[in-house]
Amino acid sequence: MEAGNLRERFEGELIGPEDAPYEEARAIFNSMIDRRPALIAQCETATDVAAALEHAREHELEVAIRSGGHSVTGAGLSEGGMVIDMRRMSAVNVDPAARTATVQGGATWSDFDRATQPHGLTSTGGRVSTTGVAGLTLGGGSGWLERRYGLACDNLESVTLVTADGRTVTASESDNAELFWGLHGGGSNFGVATELVFRLQPLPAATFALLLWPAEAGPEVGRRYRELFEAGAPDELGGAFAYITGPPEEFVPEHLQNELVSGVVLVYAGGEQEARDAIAPILELEPAGLQPTEMPYSEIQCAIDDPPGYRNYWSAEHLASLPDEALEIFCRRAEDMVVPSPSQHILFPWGGALGAQGARWPIPHRDASYVAHPLGLWEDPADDEQARAWARGLCEDLRPFSTGAVYLNFESASEDRLEAGFGRENLDRLAAVKAEYDPENVFHLHHNIKPLQPA
Ligand SMILES: Cc1cc2nc3c(=O)[nH]c(=O)nc-3n(C[C@H](O)[C@H](O)[C@H](O)COP(=O)(O)OP(=O)(O)OC[C@H]3O[C@@H](n4cnc5c(N)ncnc54)[C@H](O)[C@@H]3O)c2cc1C
Repeated sequence: MEAGNLRERFEGELIGPEDAPYEEARAIFNSMIDRRPALIAQCETATDVAAALEHAREHELEVAIRSGGHSVTGAGLSEGGMVIDMRRMSAVNVDPAARTATVQGGATWSDFDRATQPHGLTSTGGRVSTTGVAGLTLGGGSGWLERRYGLACDNLESVTLVTADGRTVTASESDNAELFWGLHGGGSNFGVATELVFRLQPLPAATFALLLWPAEAGPEVGRRYRELFEAGAPDELGGAFAYITGPPEEFVPEHLQNELVSGVVLVYAGGEQEARDAIAPILELEPAGLQPTEMPYSEIQCAIDDPPGYRNYWSAEHLASLPDEALEIFCRRAEDMVVPSPSQHILFPWGGALGAQGARWPIPHRDASYVAHPLGLWEDPADDEQARAWARGLCEDLRPFSTGAVYLNFESASEDRLEAGFGRENLDRLAAVKAEYDPENVFHLHHNIKPLQPA
């Protein structure tokens, strides 16, 4: 596809299949997705975004929005269409007095954390540094600090979008409030976010640990982990109970390296002693691995960064509670993982600040006690079947304990789970917002909410 006269009014870079940077520019996190866009518009400004959208409309090109490239379904790439690539717009400006961060639509959490950390301020990001701020937040944004500060979207002050027809719209509590509501979870359906403003929270200290045991110890570790939360763990305590492949790192004993191991990821919004006190029953089990250590939150965010270029399949199930039977299924299903691999068989504790804002925003199901999240990453196509079957199997087996809700950012197959993600009433309300801001459904590649049709 010729970029034609778009070149004359475009400040960023336009990349087509004939250009040298094309292969690199179309590479995304999930190597299973191999789509060849006609044009990748690496935007420098909001004016570029509007020009690229106009070009796509004139040439009837399907539009994909790309930031961190971490959509497991490959929503940031269109086959034969136009990619609005936001990565050049990655500035983050912090106002420490107002405790806000103004973030461009292509920034990653690494950009965000490196800008906020020097001020001792933060917000709930995800769990790795390489995901896009916009993609993660507009879908909700579940992260290590969520039990303390809610989902990432709960901390939004405003979002500025370029809509499909090239208008610039800012949404906040006071302006375009219905759009602002929709952006808290249904966010990639209405336009290209060029700027997001976040409220920041003080975080003077943070503590991290990656505690490891042989896989056989998993059920006992899981029971102790559950007891912590059932006994009312502080909201500062986040992290996960997990099975992973023991990484070949210095802090991992040799007999656990490259083997299936059970583990606890500890992220505590506070100092080391408080963190140790909060997980004392777990430490009694004498874990190997990285012991609780205070470190900058921006480093914690990189601690389990997954490598790009693997094949990916993910799913998730919100659990109302974790009776013995559910914990037993969770532990047993870990044996079906592809090992060694960077896959993670995770159980996140929910609760704390997560529930507080549930009724206000389109992601209502915040009452789950835990989220089981099989996150499959593997290398060899010969393992495709095993990896998918493991993720699906875990979720199917846990369904009797599920609240019925899902968090769509954790799903590889979202089309038929929109109602489980938003609830019927919210989905209808989102469809009305969609009809107002994107009636032609230009933005349809990610958790697509269909515009409400006139009666
Ligand atoms: C390794 C890994 C770890 C993850 N960890 C977490 C986690 O801890 N918590 C969590 O909640 N999710 C997590 N996710 C899921 C992730 O949040 C979603 O896949 C999210 O959509 C990725 O956003 P992105 O910008 O990186 O991806 P992209 O593929 O670039 O974008 C995905 C979609 O987001 C939308 N989008 C992106 N930028 C914009 C924009 N500027 N304006 C409007 N829409 C936009 C578009 O629809 C786009 O297609 C993780 C994913 C991976 C691969």
